[in-house]
Amino acid sequence: MFSVSADVEDRGSSCRIRVGFNTVLNAKKEARRLNHDILRTFSTDGVHTFGDRMATIGIDLGTTYSAAAICRHVGDVRVIPNIEGQDITPSVVFFPETDSGDEEPLVGMMAKNSAASAPQCVVRSIKRMMGDKDFCYYSPNGHELRPEVISAFILKHIKKYVEVDLGEAVTDAVITVPAYFDDVRRTATKQAGRIAGLNVLQVFNEPTAVALAYGIGLQDVGRILVYDLGGGTFDVTLMHVHDGEFDVIATDGDPELGGDDFDREITRLVVADLARQGYVVDEDNEDILCAEIEEKAEILKRGLSNVPQSTAMFTIDGKNYRVRITREQFEQATHSLLERTRERTEILLESQHLNWADIDRLLMAGGSTRMPMVRQMLQQISGKSIGNEVNQDTAVSMGAAIYAKYLETENGRNTDERSPASVREEAPSIRISDVTSQSLGIVAKNPKTGEPENSIIIQRNTHIPAKYSDTYCTTIDNQRSINIQVTEGNDPELEYVRIVGEKTLPIPPHPKHSPIKVTIAYDIDQTVYVEVTDLVTDGALGTFEIDRADNLSEPEVQSLQKSVEGVAID
Ligand code: AMP
Repeated sequence: MFSVSADVEDRGSSCRIRVGFNTVLNAKKEARRLNHDILRTFSTDGVHTFGDRMATIGIDLGTTYSAAAICRHVGDVRVIPNIEGQDITPSVVFFPETDSGDEEPLVGMMAKNSAASAPQCVVRSIKRMMGDKDFCYYSPNGHELRPEVISAFILKHIKKYVEVDLGEAVTDAVITVPAYFDDVRRTATKQAGRIAGLNVLQVFNEPTAVALAYGIGLQDVGRILVYDLGGGTFDVTLMHVHDGEFDVIATDGDPELGGDDFDREITRLVVADLARQGYVVDEDNEDILCAEIEEKAEILKRGLSNVPQSTAMFTIDGKNYRVRITREQFEQATHSLLERTRERTEILLESQHLNWADIDRLLMAGGSTRMPMVRQMLQQISGKSIGNEVNQDTAVSMGAAIYAKYLETENGRNTDERSPASVREEAPSIRISDVTSQSLGIVAKNPKTGEPENSIIIQRNTHIPAKYSDTYCTTIDNQRSINIQVTEGNDPELEYVRIVGEKTLPIPPHPKHSPIKVTIAYDIDQTVYVEVTDLVTDGALGTFEIDRADNLSEPEVQSLQKSVEGVAID
């Protein structure tokens, strides 16, 4: 398959070799209102005693809202209400300045409501920064907080209110991630769970969770398409669901597209309307006003899902401004965002050589699918009518809870008080097969152009677990080492892919153009292993797990776990 071009870059004493290639890269809701007992329990950190009972839950750690659910057995999946009795909790953290300098974060609605008065103390949409090692939030108490830690605060808050509701300690969880999350973001999510004191059984794809919530117990569902537009991400997934078997066929999406982007557009409309009325917002110096506009813009957006025009009031410098935005204005301003989701959906279908007639069910998930234009667009391109098969807010957490129950039973652990035998009988009987959302490969030099490129070894949308190899070669006589840089991403250009691991391996001296086999294995929770073989001697040169340089190290996770354990979170 490969013809080889030799190339060596001599970097001082270490010889860095790029190997060449020439190949076809080719619930029911049981809302419990807050009562004083719960409040007392909740606000007294660290005094919970739950006896021996331990619960395993599913958590939808969303960009803008999060939710948790528990599955006791099939037919008994319950979304757990937060302390305000709501199924969903804003993924917003407020960091008040404290006398002691210790962090005492507030999570949820209270934090969201504080955003307008103290925007610099509030962190929202942290999911978008997961896996970004360069991002840190500088808290008013002088701490540098990574996205994993801020997410851990949200998860700890969820763990706490679930424990209050269940009267049981929450130990294990399945946490969902967008299907399109790469390895670094998945690992960061798992680490956030661990920092929050949870044993993360698995990170689980959101669209698969939606399909599970919908399809569990149904005999013959067929081919489904899950269109999931949440607060920060867009995923579209094709699955085949039949009698407890959930086969992901392919997935696509945009991790940078969600309700937040629609908020930005409506915010612009509000700012423009204020300017038309004579007030020009100084975005660099009017933090508090900007936060108020953003908050009201999101409310306006929600309103426009139900009525053709919605209104917000602003009092600035003692003067009242009435801002009216019409649905038509909003839809025009956000047309290109919606188009991006349409394009990705159609590309996904085309990539599988399918058309809309091949799709039996279309499921919409994610709060942003409440915007009427989403349904209209999907109905128009698919020619299908779309019902409300799943609850946009809670389907992901419910699917995660079902999967958590399944894993718990598979692992031989039973947190249910009933006999293990009866629980096993009632445990979800499911089989899930998933695909890779990102291609994996190595950096190699294109023999035609001489330029280093992303040489894909495992194409995306390959069923996992997967193990694939390709053959490369040495580029000089008596080459003494090879440097393997593992890439994650679908683009041939390195600029658009992430280097997720790198290792330099010694090799025995051979003539140039000696073949080297690189094998990449992707396991079920998308952990990646690399194996390098010298094909001249058939000897193993080394095996390594990708180093995840963008993730926290194990000692860092353990140290953060200890620090967060002591943090009182409300
Ligand atoms: P999720 O990540 O699934 O919780 O979705 C949250 C996103 O859904 C946020 O951007 C919300 O603003 C958006 N959203 C929730 N309800 C509505 C609604 N009624 N109309 C428009 N967008 C909504």
